[in-house]
Amino acid sequence: MICTNDKIEKIKDWLRINLTEQRYLHSLGTMNTAGELAEMFGLDIEKAKLAGLLHDCAKCLEKETLLEILSNLPEDDMTVDLNNIKTLHAPAGAFIAKDKLGVEDKEILDSIACHTVGKTDMTDFDKIIFLADKIEPYKREKKYREKIIELLKKENGLNLAILKCYETTIKHLLKKNSSISIQTITVWNSLLTDI
Ligand code: GDP
Ligand code: FE
Ligand code: FE
Repeated sequence: MICTNDKIEKIKDWLRINLTEQRYLHSLGTMNTAGELAEMFGLDIEKAKLAGLLHDCAKCLEKETLLEILSNLPEDDMTVDLNNIKTLHAPAGAFIAKDKLGVEDKEILDSIACHTVGKTDMTDFDKIIFLADKIEPYKREKKYREKIIELLKKENGLNLAILKCYETTIKHLLKKNSSISIQTITVWNSLLTDI
């Protein structure tokens, strides 16, 4: 067992206090979807559910707190783009999950760290947590969820589904005239060679 029920309840209590209600419900949705995707791809269901539950644990921290957390992490630990504030909660979340919530499992921590911009060498576990976040039913549209699940059923489905999510994010960022992290473009380019 990756985590006792008691510890999971403590994590949920912490999230309930430190996230908005909407963000907490999105975390529960991501937890459940992560479990479903883990089952679909033969991965550890309990571990995936815990990673899904935790993935946005740093989402409601102030910008200054996020920057302070990241300034104390080893530089080669993760790819951080300080210019894109909305992406910082992912690497900071991995730190909070370990430091404040006592989660030691590297697979879980890595998947939290890369759930927003991804990385070129994502494992299948990283990919299902990334996808669960993008398609969980509480916050995301049903039609989009169905489209991604349809892609997941195809050959090389994980990469096809991730590529679709990047397409959606990049189009959304372009539409808003937002800056796009170099890492996002790098992962997009590498995915194109993987499909
Ligand atoms: P959420 O935390 O559940 O809302 O979802 P994510 O962690 O996937 O994304 C958080 C935010 O980061 C979203 O609004 C994305 O559009 C945004 N985001 C993702 N990649 C980039 C990027 O390369 N640049 C910028 N500026 N924002 C990004
Ligand atoms: Fe997030
Ligand atoms: Fe999320």
